[in-house]
Amino acid sequence: MSKRILLTSLIVTIFVILFFAITSTEVYHNQIVTETKTILKTYTNVYKASGEKPEDLKELLDCNSLTVMDLTGKVIYDSNGASIGSVIDAIDVQAAISSGEGSSEGYSIEKKMTEVFYCTNTENELIRISICINSSTTMFLQALPTLLGFLVLDITLCLLFTWLATSFILHPVKELAQSAIGTNKEVKVRFKELQPIANVINQKNEYVINSQKSKDEFISNVTHEMNTPLTSIKGFAELIASGNLDKQKTIKAGSTILNQSERLSSMIAKILRYSELDDDLLPTYDLNISNVIKEHVLTYSPLFKDKKITFEQQIEDNVVLKTRHEYITEILDNLISNAVKYNKPKGSIKLTLTNRKLEVADTGIGIDREELTHIFSRFYTVDKSHGENTGFGLGLSIVKKLCDRSHWKLTVDSTKGEGTVFTIEF
Ligand code: ADP
Repeated sequence: MSKRILLTSLIVTIFVILFFAITSTEVYHNQIVTETKTILKTYTNVYKASGEKPEDLKELLDCNSLTVMDLTGKVIYDSNGASIGSVIDAIDVQAAISSGEGSSEGYSIEKKMTEVFYCTNTENELIRISICINSSTTMFLQALPTLLGFLVLDITLCLLFTWLATSFILHPVKELAQSAIGTNKEVKVRFKELQPIANVINQKNEYVINSQKSKDEFISNVTHEMNTPLTSIKGFAELIASGNLDKQKTIKAGSTILNQSERLSSMIAKILRYSELDDDLLPTYDLNISNVIKEHVLTYSPLFKDKKITFEQQIEDNVVLKTRHEYITEILDNLISNAVKYNKPKGSIKLTLTNRKLEVADTGIGIDREELTHIFSRFYTVDKSHGENTGFGLGLSIVKKLCDRSHWKLTVDSTKGEGTVFTIEF
């Protein structure tokens, strides 16, 4: 970056210096030409008033050339003794014939100088004089040593500027980068201008730390949760393999293995679904959730009958939400299966849907107030026994994730021993 700053400032300043030198030389040269014309005019006027001979004017002026012509352009006198037939066409001569005086300038290849002409009409003759001045190129070349001096000064200033820029701008940035690398501590800065960058780094760091923590926690929970069914499967499989079990015990061991395998695969399916939701970018659409809910709860009828649970529903018609069919059924599955699982014998479940909210209320075992804040966390279960009938603590975290991504508010209210109500406000 310092090299780029140096190079950019050098290119810009060299360009500016050269541009300034060329344009100012041109302006200065034009100024000299204008002043020379005025001087020539003054001298010719003095000459006209004095009535001196043309040769005297040449000496007086020390001019380059002096030409006297009659009004047809015929040369009467020329200080350089040249026969100048074509002078009559010169701009200054033409202007003098038509309006009394004229001036012009041009580059003399022979003298390598700018020649300034002035011509005046004295009623009976045309007097034309010229003076040579330095051309703009010569002026530029004369100014070149000074210009080179400026360029050297420019390079020095650019080097100094780059050094200052590196010290005052890049150094704190390097310092910031240094403090941000390989550390989890909060990045602090000396300059308030760098605070927004430090904030971003701190936010990212916090995010990375939290993600790492959550990943570690997730892996540890998954392995812990998998361990129980796997140990059980392994133990019973070993017993069967030993051949020491009678037929009845073998059947029991086989059914335990089956149950635990189903539990394991259900857990894996939930884990996959949970992580899948992070990348779920599927589009939502207008869905009549009243119809979806009415149809879906029908599939629970056998379970309610089996568990002797009274189910009541109060579903408002034609509630339309921008969502996906599987989001609604997934939420229902988790809330209703929990309401069944954690209900009391002959308990009841009430499902209510209005335009603004969905409620699943049960008359089950309820949840302790202290536990309520944790139940939406991954792998959190109130009953830590990890028994065959207890869950893995993933269902409510999936519901929470679905509600969060849909910007719905999920709340829970529960009284220990009386029941629980889960509410989703759309
Ligand atoms: P799982 O039910 O698979 O254990 P969840 O994430 O669905 O996991 O639930 C987390 C915990 O919240 C459960 O372990 C249970 O203790 C508690 N819970 C959830 N729903 C209810 C309910 N309706 N009544 C009582 N407790 C509940």
